[in-house]
Amino acid sequence: VFAHVAQAQDDPILGVTVAYNKDPSPVKLNLGVGAYRTEEGKPLVLNAVRKAEQQLVADRSHVKEYLPISGLADFNKLSAELMFGADSPAILENRISTVQCLSGTGSLRVGGEFLASHHHQPTIYFPTPTWGNHHKIFTRAGLSVKAYRYYDPTTRGLNFHGLMEDLGSAPPGAVVLLHACAHNPTGVDPTLQQWEQIRKLIRSNGLLPFFDSAYQGFASGSLDADAKPVRMFVADGGELLAAQSYAKNLGLYGERVGALSVVCGSSDVARRVESQLRVVIRPLYSSPPIHGASIVATILKDRDLFHEWTLELKEMADRVISMRHQLFDALQKTGTPGDWSHIIEQIGMFTFTGLNKAQVEFMNKEYHIYMTPDGRISMAGLSTRTVPHLANAIHAAVTG
Ligand code: PMP
Repeated sequence: VFAHVAQAQDDPILGVTVAYNKDPSPVKLNLGVGAYRTEEGKPLVLNAVRKAEQQLVADRSHVKEYLPISGLADFNKLSAELMFGADSPAILENRISTVQCLSGTGSLRVGGEFLASHHHQPTIYFPTPTWGNHHKIFTRAGLSVKAYRYYDPTTRGLNFHGLMEDLGSAPPGAVVLLHACAHNPTGVDPTLQQWEQIRKLIRSNGLLPFFDSAYQGFASGSLDADAKPVRMFVADGGELLAAQSYAKNLGLYGERVGALSVVCGSSDVARRVESQLRVVIRPLYSSPPIHGASIVATILKDRDLFHEWTLELKEMADRVISMRHQLFDALQKTGTPGDWSHIIEQIGMFTFTGLNKAQVEFMNKEYHIYMTPDGRISMAGLSTRTVPHLANAIHAAVTG
């Protein structure tokens, strides 16, 4: 009965790793997937995470019962505090409903499903470009998808004018997806002054912001600094949604731990919204997994573990920033034509190199370097040892 089923295309990002794994070359380099690697090229489990897990194993009262549909209550409370700040007026007024979801992706999807059923304008605007999964998540959830200008290839920076123009002509109620920090794939973020103008426009036109926060702490090394744009939108008293992921900032990729928060106009509304989020979640996966959320709650609750996490997070962010400088310096050394300053100006895990598809293919064939076809490279996958190989490959691609 399934003989008619056609072969689906590999996911363009995860497909890069599939191809990498098949390559026998000893110099192969995977810069496709956004996962942190140590200087030795190894995945990292944070000490704060290891210690939290040890505590959980030692605690005989920690059992494997089902969580409620909305997840672990402590985790939800602490996640909202991490995103919005413990002294956030919306938290103090009980105006936020937070539910534990399956990492950032699951949080976005639950938010999308909720909007499709309960929001009067089920249209969502994405920046161009955006993380490839956004379109699929929200289309599947039943929203219609539109674009707003974001990246300007000529300056390799923000097309602020285009962004304001496109959001300015969005219909009232339209949802606007905003990357909270470290925009993926471009690494280009608005300045705080630009955020303030975006906020004013969104509020005066009655648009609904939906923040995707997949890199809190990973951009600047500071959890609070990276949450600033989101908090500006909470401080004005308005409504919004926010999806949080602990994949990158706690290195909990495979634990699938995240949260969706809906900031509402009153505590009464927040309670009703939460009841509808449970209606979305129950038939999808019934309730979320307990382990990852318990790790996060243990760390967020414990002063020492939290402090250790912030230091480890800063170390990861600093290593990525150092890779930017090393790659920039190496390209100066090889005398590679062009202006490469965007490598040190862009923010977060990725550099949007500006290399075209043919150049990406060339580097893949001749240098066994793997990246997405749009020329995005994960700086977290680089090391001091591999920078020269990448710089030589870029040089050859650009001058060839
Ligand atoms: N949003 C953005 C912008 C991302 O880059 C990612 C991770 N690549 C996610 C959401 C979600 O990731 P996860 O589901 O692993 O938390």
